[in-house]
Amino acid sequence: DTTRELLLSRIRDVRDYPKPGVVFKDITPLLADPRAFGALTDALADLCVKHGATKVVGLEARGFILAAPVAIRAGLGFIPVRKAGKLPGATLSQAYELEYGTAEIEVHAEDLNAGDRVMVIDDVLATGGTAEASLELIRRAGAEVAGVAVLMELGFLDGRAKLQPSLAGAPLEAL
Ligand code: IMP
Repeated sequence: DTTRELLLSRIRDVRDYPKPGVVFKDITPLLADPRAFGALTDALADLCVKHGATKVVGLEARGFILAAPVAIRAGLGFIPVRKAGKLPGATLSQAYELEYGTAEIEVHAEDLNAGDRVMVIDDVLATGGTAEASLELIRRAGAEVAGVAVLMELGFLDGRAKLQPSLAGAPLEAL
């Protein structure tokens, strides 16, 4: 539809970034266009409402840019999931595998609780490792997963399949 075409037209392919052979999906042209950024915010906020979310998690760093206006638009609280060592309070952390080595993400333990239904928002779903780790965090905090919503899914990396077990029936929405 027209929103999808508008969004697609504002995503730039950058070849050989961050390393040779990789085509990076750059969303900065979309962020610089208020009509496209607004349409994206509306679409993601609609998904939060549709799936009954009560909180919005953004994944550092580009997920923050998208999830913050979505949270306000949907009338929900914004919860940052950050790379290890950035949050000042008591945290839950979750390690996950990268192509080389491991990474770790954290959330403030007090931000997610039983009774919360959480929508996870990010720009790109690639291998699914980051989103999968965030779902672990949400469940370990005692909260429920409302779903994962991303601007783009890189289908050839099959993150959707990797994510299925941790979604446990919750939706993965890719605009
Ligand atoms: P995954 O854990 O492999 O699914 O990688 C997803 C994370 O890497 C997300 O937080 C994305 O922001 C980032 N990422 C991976 N590929 C791209 C890309 O082509 N463009 C922008 N971000 C990307």
